[in-house]
Amino acid sequence: MSQFSQHNFKNQKALIRVDFNVPLDEHFNITDDTRMKSAILTIKKVLSDGGSVILMSHFGRPKNGPEGKFSLKHLLPHLQELLGDVKIAFADDCIGNDAQQKAHDLKPGEVLLLENLRFYKEEEKGDEAFAKKLSELGDIYVNDAFGTAHRAHASTAVIAKYFSADKKMFGLLMEAEVANAEKVMHKSEKPFLAIIGGAKVSDKILIIENLLERATDIIIGGGMAYTFMKAMGGKIGNSLCEDDRLDKASELLKKAEEKGVCIHLPADSIIADKFDAAANISGALSNDIPDGWMGLDIGEMACETFKGVIHHSKTILWNGPMGVFEMKNFQHGTKTIALAVAEATANGAFSLVGGGDSVAAVNEFDLADKVSYVSTGGGALLEYFEGKELPGIKAIRES
Ligand code: AMP
Repeated sequence: MSQFSQHNFKNQKALIRVDFNVPLDEHFNITDDTRMKSAILTIKKVLSDGGSVILMSHFGRPKNGPEGKFSLKHLLPHLQELLGDVKIAFADDCIGNDAQQKAHDLKPGEVLLLENLRFYKEEEKGDEAFAKKLSELGDIYVNDAFGTAHRAHASTAVIAKYFSADKKMFGLLMEAEVANAEKVMHKSEKPFLAIIGGAKVSDKILIIENLLERATDIIIGGGMAYTFMKAMGGKIGNSLCEDDRLDKASELLKKAEEKGVCIHLPADSIIADKFDAAANISGALSNDIPDGWMGLDIGEMACETFKGVIHHSKTILWNGPMGVFEMKNFQHGTKTIALAVAEATANGAFSLVGGGDSVAAVNEFDLADKVSYVSTGGGALLEYFEGKELPGIKAIRES
C-alpha cells in the first residue's frame, strides 16, 4: 500500500496541491472537468479519515497579480457539486492573515480552497519565502498535480522541503501517474512500441531520442512524419515540414538503425489540396505527394502496417494523433490506431496514452476505458519520457 493510502489524516490538515487548471467558456462554465474530478478521490480520503483539506492550484496565466477571470472562485459551485455535502470555504488570497485564519478555523471534514497561486509571481519563480508561507497553512503536504510536476514552482516542488519525509506524499492521482509512467519507462514488457504523432518534430525530438534507448518499435505519424519523409529524399508537396530539422530527422533514423529500433513511417497518406475540412481529397504514397497537395492523415496501407505492429506489442505508449483528427475527413488514421491500441489492450498489452491531443482522440472515440491508463499530464508526461527528472516527483522522494 502507498504512503498516502496508509496515512491516517484524522485531525490533520492536508495541504493538497491540485491541478484545477480547467478550461472555461466565456460565461465561466467549465467545459472539461477531468482535472477536478481526478483529484476528488484524494480529497475524499482525507475527509473520510476525519481530516480537513486545504486546496491550492494555479489557474490560467494571469500576467500581473489578481485578475477576475482567473479567480478560482469560478470553480466553487462545481467543486461543491463534486464533493456533495461538504463545507467549502474560500480564501481570496492564497497567503496572508485571511488564509491563515481560515486554515486555522478549518474543522475535520471541511475544505478550504485558496485563491489562484499564480496571482503571485513568486509561485512560478519557486520563491522560498512564498513556499514557506504556504507550507504553514497545513500539517501535511500532498502533491496530486501531475500536470505541473515538471515545474519547479513554489507549490509543486520548493514547498516540500518544509515538511519531513513522513509529512509529504503523492496523492492518489499522482501516485497512479508516476506508477504507470515508471512501468512503461523502466519495466516495459517487450516488444515495447511507442506511437508518436502530432504536428511538430521539434517538440518530439527529445522523446524519440530517449525512446531509442528503450523501445522495440517506434511508429511516427501525423504532420511530423513528413519531415522524416523529406529527410529520406521523398517528395512531400505542401505537407508540414520543419526544414531546419531535416538533419536531425536523418540522424534519428540512423541512430535507430544502429540500435536495432524499428522506425515505422506511414507508407501512404490521405492528401488534401488545402488545410480545410472541405478540401478535395485523394491518396498518395507519403514520399510522392504532388505539388499543391498536403498529407493530412495516414493512408490505408499505413493503417494496416501500424495495426500489425500494435497487435504484436506488449507495451504501448501513445502520444500525438496520426492526422488532423479534428476534421472528420482526416480522422480515420487516428481512429484506426486508437481501436488497435484498445484491441491490443484487450489481448493483454499494457497501454499508456498521454499528451493532450491523443487523450482528446481516445475520448472522442469513446475508448478511454479500453486502454490501460490515460494520463492527465501533457507536458509533464512528455518531459518524463524525455528522460528528465520531474521536480514535483523529486521533491517528494528526496528527504
Ligand atoms: P501536437 O500538439 O504536436 O501533438 O500536435 C497535434 C496537432 O497536430 C493536432 O491539432 C493535429 O491536427 C495536428 N496534425 C496531425 N497531423 C497533421 C498533419 N498531417 N498536418 C498538419 N497537422 C497535423
